[in-house]
Amino acid sequence: MKKALLSIDYTVDFVAEDGALTCSKPGQDIEDSITAITREFIEEQHFVVFAIDSHRKGDQYHPETNLFPPHNIIGTPGRDLFGSLKFLYEKHQHEEHVYWMDKTRYSAFAGTDLEQKLRERGITELHLTGVCTDICILHTAVDAYNKGFQLVIHKNAVASFNPLGHDWALQHFTSSMGAKVV
Ligand code: ZN
Repeated sequence: MKKALLSIDYTVDFVAEDGALTCSKPGQDIEDSITAITREFIEEQHFVVFAIDSHRKGDQYHPETNLFPPHNIIGTPGRDLFGSLKFLYEKHQHEEHVYWMDKTRYSAFAGTDLEQKLRERGITELHLTGVCTDICILHTAVDAYNKGFQLVIHKNAVASFNPLGHDWALQHFTSSMGAKVV
């Protein structure tokens, strides 16, 4: 079974204390484990996708404009990866199996070429890390499930500002999607 890692939205705006839409401490607490897991996948030559939220300022057509304050605006430092994950990415960004992918919706599959990239490589198992467990991880997992991918969720490398949402999503991954939560 060929596997890939999706590293979702672990950016300054979603994680740093002063981030525009931050998970705050729960997000900061997973820094060491998300970086360690990502490093392992990169070093073992697996396909690693950094699927990163991307917005234009004041986009009147985007559904999130009425839901959240502006965040992950293209060209701002808020869209940089957070902490040690940024340094890991910068070290490996030019390697063929490390792929930065802008996304504009919660799901990494919505409006992107992610499925094509995965199918080309024969990948059938997706490992999910990042934030937020009950928003972008959840929506990505739902799409992956419907497309027939096996899912592995790394519970020490996903986080949410909402503890109830986090716990609910983790049990939903196992009970309704047959995911392995490890
Ligand atoms: Zn967004």
